[in-house]
Amino acid sequence: MKILLVEDEQKLAEALKKGLEHEGYTADIINDGKKAFTRISLHRSDYDLVILDLMLPSMDGLEICKQVREMNITLPILILTARAETDTKVQLLLAGADDYLVKPFSFAELNARIQALLRRPSETLPETLTVGDIELNPAQRKVAREGKEVPLTLKEFGLLEYFMRHPNQVVNREDLLNHLWDFNYAGFSNVVDVHVKNLRRKIGDGENGSVLETVRGIGYRLAE
Ligand code: CA
Repeated sequence: MKILLVEDEQKLAEALKKGLEHEGYTADIINDGKKAFTRISLHRSDYDLVILDLMLPSMDGLEICKQVREMNITLPILILTARAETDTKVQLLLAGADDYLVKPFSFAELNARIQALLRRPSETLPETLTVGDIELNPAQRKVAREGKEVPLTLKEFGLLEYFMRHPNQVVNREDLLNHLWDFNYAGFSNVVDVHVKNLRRKIGDGENGSVLETVRGIGYRLAE
């Protein structure tokens, strides 16, 4: 799960990013309103949620929210606001925000709101994803193969969840990088392959035939 964090208070943004990463999310920080709007317009599919501060340089959160909704982008938006007036709350919801949080707030509260928002669209999805003999429970962050639990790192879990949400589709490395690593990531481009290799080993792929295929020059495909 990847979150776009739009917040111009650098210290708060860094602290939130750290907290989110600790919870297993990937987060990108943007500290300017117009840049954030551009990012959302062009890269909406990279993100699962936007956390949007209300007071921002160049374009405020309310305007971003309105324009994003006008473009029919349904990405969940959680607004951070220092204002507590009732009319602001109404305005935020009218502008298409899914929820808001008044500063100062605890990280635990933010995390609870995020979980509630991320659960909402998946209510229609089964609680457990199943592909072949692999079962993955996103809420409990558990994976089992042939009923036996497989311990995975957060990145490996994220990769497997992504594959299981796109079964039988060729998933390219760039999609995986965009979805599971933040945009400041400047490491080796083979980072995806390294994590996939570890994931394969842990789920015992190849022992009874391969479910996670390499598609040469493109990426991977999880076969059902
Ligand atoms: Ca601000």
